[in-house]
Amino acid sequence: DVILSENLSFNSLILPPETLKGLAAAGFEKPSPIQVKALPVGRCGFDLMVKSKSGTGKTLVFGIISLESIKLDKPDPQVLIVAPTREIAVQIQEVILSIGKYYEGLAVESFIGGLPLAGDKSKCKLCHIAVGTPGRLKQLIKENLLSVEGVKIFVLDEADKLMEESFQNDINDIYNTLPSHKQIIMCSATYPEQMQTFLEQYMLSPVTVSVELETPLLLGLKHYVRLLKSTLNVVQQTKLKNDELLKILSAIPFIQCLIFSNYQTRAESVSNFLNRNNWSSIFMSAAQNQTTRLHSLSDLKEFKKKILVTTDLTARGIDAPNVDLVINYDVPINATTYLHRMGRAGRYGSTGNCINIAFKGQESQLLQNILGVIGGETLSIPIVDESFNL
Ligand code: ADP
Ligand code: MG
Repeated sequence: DVILSENLSFNSLILPPETLKGLAAAGFEKPSPIQVKALPVGRCGFDLMVKSKSGTGKTLVFGIISLESIKLDKPDPQVLIVAPTREIAVQIQEVILSIGKYYEGLAVESFIGGLPLAGDKSKCKLCHIAVGTPGRLKQLIKENLLSVEGVKIFVLDEADKLMEESFQNDINDIYNTLPSHKQIIMCSATYPEQMQTFLEQYMLSPVTVSVELETPLLLGLKHYVRLLKSTLNVVQQTKLKNDELLKILSAIPFIQCLIFSNYQTRAESVSNFLNRNNWSSIFMSAAQNQTTRLHSLSDLKEFKKKILVTTDLTARGIDAPNVDLVINYDVPINATTYLHRMGRAGRYGSTGNCINIAFKGQESQLLQNILGVIGGETLSIPIVDESFNL
């Protein structure tokens, strides 16, 4: 293993002056551990698999490499970045534009479903870096609106998600339209084992760069379980969880909070319930139109709202640095989802809490299995039955 100095700055990586100025202007001083490890390998052109926990700065890894690789006098896309949700795509576009502000004439565009195709057509004419969701990118390429002949780098963010069945065909189709000589960069906080082998089929000489610590949990985050006595009556169940939620929100100091439900309709009614009880909240799900979705997210990021109630649509990738409380109103379906949800708090080493509300029985059993997968025997999460005392 390479031993790296504590004092490494972005300057020590000898990045292009435009990038260094852009990083400084955006407030980035020192590279994160995954950036220190992955940037040199990626800049050499190796196919790259970047594995590190949520909130450790993977976006800048491919953002910096992408900016360095483009020729601004060519109007066509030279980097193609795919993300599983529309919100992540827009977020990536914003990050690259912000660190790329000294690249004069730089065009970074996002192409996402739910917004009219007509708007995309003009964006295709001048676009050095294209970021989008699989369906929309595939459509634009198929209809010869977006040219991919000049693509040198293909990035898959949240790569394991993109390899799931719902996306696989679109990704494959996009991949098959790209020039054979290209660099591939894949990023995620989770790579289920079978997925790794599958992903490598896409890559020529994959180099895996990871910052692995003994636990996949974020060090700044504390986890708690609030167990409720199970009841068969659905109306009573809702009441129990809602009352519990109010207690948690009053008992625990937080700056911003994300509440996850497994169901769109439930997320919406929880948000309505909170609004009726003097906890102003917004709600976001895939059932809403895209403009509303993007508005909700910017309200959260710009701190106009403290609480967002949502589904697993928002579990991955979203970076709202002030979120320090994640509440699982429903226990997530698996360990991967748990890791992504909790990662919405504790961004870039900050501190926070992750609280699970679970009924005794099936739901608490599921939670226990998840925590077993994540933490093995070393992890013990306090079960708070009576009063909170964090
Ligand atoms: P990941 O994709 O690994 O989950 P992101 O790329 O979304 O993480 O970055 C998480 C947060 O960390 C963002 O708010 C980002 O601005 C911040 N960040 C990334 N790199 C640095 C850095 N070198 N110094 C300070 N903050 C950083
Ligand atoms: Mg990310």
